[in-house]
Amino acid sequence: MIDWEAVRAEVTGHLQALIRIDTTNPPGNESEAARYLEGILRQEGFDPLFVESEPKRGNVLARLSGGDEPPLMLLGHTDVVAVEPEHWTHPPFSGTLADGCVWGRGALDMKNMVATNLMVLLLLQREGVQLNRDIVFAATADEEAGKGNHGPGWIIDNRPDLWDAPLIITEGGGSDFAVGEQRFYTCQTGQKGLCRLRLIARGTPGHGSMPHGDSAIVKLSRALAGLEGAVFPAHISASVHHFIEGVASRRPAPEAALWQQVLDPTTADAALRDLPISSTLRRELGAVLHNTASATMVQAGSKINVIPGEATAWIDGRLVPGQTAESFTDELRAFIGDEVAIEIDQYTPPLEASSDTPLFQTIVEVMQEREPDAPVLPYLMPAGTDAKHIVPRRPETQIYGFMPYRQQLGEEEMALIHGHDERTPVEELLFATQVLYEIVCRFGGLISRVQY
Ligand SMILES: [Zn+2]
Repeated sequence: MIDWEAVRAEVTGHLQALIRIDTTNPPGNESEAARYLEGILRQEGFDPLFVESEPKRGNVLARLSGGDEPPLMLLGHTDVVAVEPEHWTHPPFSGTLADGCVWGRGALDMKNMVATNLMVLLLLQREGVQLNRDIVFAATADEEAGKGNHGPGWIIDNRPDLWDAPLIITEGGGSDFAVGEQRFYTCQTGQKGLCRLRLIARGTPGHGSMPHGDSAIVKLSRALAGLEGAVFPAHISASVHHFIEGVASRRPAPEAALWQQVLDPTTADAALRDLPISSTLRRELGAVLHNTASATMVQAGSKINVIPGEATAWIDGRLVPGQTAESFTDELRAFIGDEVAIEIDQYTPPLEASSDTPLFQTIVEVMQEREPDAPVLPYLMPAGTDAKHIVPRRPETQIYGFMPYRQQLGEEEMALIHGHDERTPVEELLFATQVLYEIVCRFGGLISRVQY
């Protein structure tokens, strides 16, 4: 039987060590973290592979060989976002252990899961778990900034031989949340796509002393004013459908009826407004039910006495599964009118994996035993993960976001991600290690029950 007390100390130590390596991206410097992981894996008898897209942008992969079923990958990124150290209770790269938590940048996003993934692999090896498929560990660079040129996308493009797993578990879901007294867990099955575009208004240039009624700035302003309070049509993706049905099935009748109305695009917005839920959940549900468009930058003119001939606004557009750049710009057009041109700068499609698969079912079953009162629901994420670099290159891949985690630090806990005082309770590191280990043992191995 596994000594779980020892595992708790070991996984905590790995998380602390990873936090102490500053991998703020940019510039990243993930190689040092990858080298740390490579060292541990080598000590334990693995034959890990360290690959750099360029100096200091390192990735590490390791494999435990099993049977002929399709490989399962445990994936995590080692880079983190920047900090403002003056706002932290403990220094952000100290990995301080205090109040039952490991403190530091990356404690929740996502050096915690890198450490638990590592621990799961080590346990599989030490316990000699018989496998029906290869289990692949990947700790990759460059998720948090820019175009993600140094992580999974780079590996698939440059070392396609290293990337053969059509099933992946990574970040983006796994936390619990409550509706009333009822707790649920999320498992990410999909994420919204990205459509970044420019609105360009053209007018007649001229001298500021003589207005002429054909101003690019005024045209652009009219287009942007159309976005004020704009509610795009509701689109119910499969992930959101299953999520809503799952919540409705655990709520009292009058409230359950409201949840059911969210499933009908014609009543979704009114029902969402009336649901007795937190403002955070309402905002998040609003984002996953609709395409959205936020104006984030504008530019026009260069001199106070010159009427410019052109004015530009940048729009951050996000698309629900099933939508395309074309369907999105059609919807956008209805709000902004036709005085401006639309030019698309960047498009990544929305993604969605099925929740009707043996791997998803295994996640549900393991959690049912650990947390019988809190069912796992498919979940569509409003933002993106590394999945956006993987699925377009390997469309057959099924990616699930599942880092099991019980929120203990209160309402604002998820705001610690990318915020100040990011930290993770040691208890949750152990919980995640046990749950992920059991999922892998049952799905990828020939073990039906793990002893705690
Ligand atoms: Zn992350």
